[in-house]
Amino acid sequence: MYGKLKIIKYDMKIGIMGGTFDPIHIGHLVAAEEARAVFGLDKVIFVPNYQPPHKPDVKVSHPEHRYAMVLLSIYTNPHFEVSRVEIERGGPSYAIDTVKEFKKLYPEAEIYFITGADAIAEILSWKQGEEILKLCKFIAVTRPGYDIEKVKEKLSGVANDVQFLKITEINISSTEIRRRVREGKPIKYLVLETVENYIYKHNLYSGG
Ligand code: ATP
Ligand code: MG
Repeated sequence: MYGKLKIIKYDMKIGIMGGTFDPIHIGHLVAAEEARAVFGLDKVIFVPNYQPPHKPDVKVSHPEHRYAMVLLSIYTNPHFEVSRVEIERGGPSYAIDTVKEFKKLYPEAEIYFITGADAIAEILSWKQGEEILKLCKFIAVTRPGYDIEKVKEKLSGVANDVQFLKITEINISSTEIRRRVREGKPIKYLVLETVENYIYKHNLYSGG
C-alpha cells in the first residue's frame, strides 16, 4: 500500500573530537566550542587516542598523561566530556571503531565528528574512510596553513556531507607546544594553566 517511511528522530546532537592531544591546546578548545555553538550540539566528547594510526613510528606521551590533560582542560565546561573508549580499546585507534561504539552508546543521537582542515583532508586514507563518511556527519573547521578551498576540491564527489566551518583561527599545534617546552620558551596562554602546570610537574616534552 504505502511505502515505508522511516522517520529518524534524534534526541541529542553529539560532537566527537578525536585527537592525540599531546598536549591539548587552545586551538582544540576553540574549535570544539565554536562547532558546538554553531551546530547546536548538546555536548562535545573529546576522545584521546591510544595510538595514532597515522603516526605509528612517532613516540607520543603515555595515554594517561594525554587523558589527564584533556580532563584538566574541559572540566569547567558543562558541555565538554572526555571519553576513554580508545584508551581502553588499546592498539591503533581507528575512528571508524570509535564512531560505531558511540552509535551503540547513543542510539538516538546524531553524531558529528569534528576535525581540523588538515585532518579532514586525509580522511580517505583513514581505515574505511568512505564508510565512516556514511556513518556520521562531519564538521571540518578552518586551521591556519590549510587552504579550505583546496580541501573541498579534493573531497568533492566523495565527501559531500562534510560541513566546513570558518572559526577563529588559532595558529598553534601540539608539535609547536612540545618544541617550545623543549626550548624553554613559554607556553602560557597557549594551553590552559592547569595543563601548563601538569606539563612541568611531570617533565613532559623537556627531552630529559
Ligand atoms: P600535532 O602537532 O601533534 O599533530 P595537533 O595540534 O595537530 O598536534 P591533534 O591532536 O593532532 O593536534 O589534533 C586533533 C584534532 O584537532 C585534529 O582534527 C586537528 O585537525 C584539530 N586541530 C588541532 N589543532 C587545531 C587548531 N589550531 N585549529 C583547528 N583545529 C585544530
Ligand atoms: Mg595533528
